[in-house]
Amino acid sequence: MLNTKQNQRYIVGVDLGGTNIVCGAMPEDGSRQIAIQSQPTFAEQGADSVVDRIARAVEDVIALTMAETGATRSDFVGVGIGAPGPLDRERGLVVTAPNLGWKDFPLRAHLADRVGLPATLDNDANCATLGEWWVGAARGGRHVVGLTIGTGIGGGLILDGQLYHGASDVAGEIGHTTIDSTGRRCKCGNYGCLEAYCSGPAIAERAREALFGTEDGVSILGQLAGGPERITAQTVYEAAQQGDPIARDVVRETARLLGAGIANLVNVFNPDVVVVAGGVTQAGDALFEPLRAEVRRRAFKPAVDACRIVPGALPGTAGVVGAVATFKAQMERQRRGTRDEGRGVATEGAGLAR
Ligand SMILES: [Zn+2]
Repeated sequence: MLNTKQNQRYIVGVDLGGTNIVCGAMPEDGSRQIAIQSQPTFAEQGADSVVDRIARAVEDVIALTMAETGATRSDFVGVGIGAPGPLDRERGLVVTAPNLGWKDFPLRAHLADRVGLPATLDNDANCATLGEWWVGAARGGRHVVGLTIGTGIGGGLILDGQLYHGASDVAGEIGHTTIDSTGRRCKCGNYGCLEAYCSGPAIAERAREALFGTEDGVSILGQLAGGPERITAQTVYEAAQQGDPIARDVVRETARLLGAGIANLVNVFNPDVVVVAGGVTQAGDALFEPLRAEVRRRAFKPAVDACRIVPGALPGTAGVVGAVATFKAQMERQRRGTRDEGRGVATEGAGLAR
């Protein structure tokens, strides 16, 4: 058991959220997750204090990994960070993060300084998608659309085997695609965003509205939650499993709306995998079966036939695994060097000239 693989190197992953910081390590080959731990972010204490907590968590993870694997500190090549966007990846900035109260914060440089290792920064939902692709439910895909449904709806795109960032790192904001042009107001300011209907809080809100005005005040849904005002997405899924008709309707409606949103993505990107992760996967087949049916009704058949729609396989750790994966991917791109990149640009230029 103690035969430490020669030259096995390790990467630390950090998944920074508004509520929790999740941190852990993986060997470069992605074969396992080590020393995964979670702690509160305490964003209200300010950015420096958050960086402090992340740095200490990274040191803890390194120490635990060394104890468990016999690795030495020099076997750790760097830290991948997933953070809520929008980000400026080139400069390593969190541009704005309402949940953290940050603006143009140089997270990557601060953390790299503190832990003395190179660091990379990418959007948390991009990381989750890359994690599912590397070692989770989207393995083997070449074109992957990822949705992470929790407090909000994050998205990530892998096109031709690479995370796609777009012109200014905004690509993949699936939660803020419009599914009803005159619909509910979204936190982003737009109307009718997918997130305004299918995020955890939005699902709970729709359930409360459905319950309101019904004669039967003693539905399973209301009882489970301990009052309509305490309904969460999770109680909706539980009540649906127990046969509550209102909760079942809400889950079916969620499947219909998500299905419409995903059908758009299937027609645009023609992915081989759509992976849906986050709390919503607890709804299970009650959600996924009608969701797949809705996509089948709406999208082109060859696109639907080529695509599997699956729940995420890394509950709670997709972000950390993906942060590790983004570090690895960025290092590999750097290793291949600017020579290839230059050639790519030249080829494109030649194509344009023709
Ligand atoms: Zn929005």
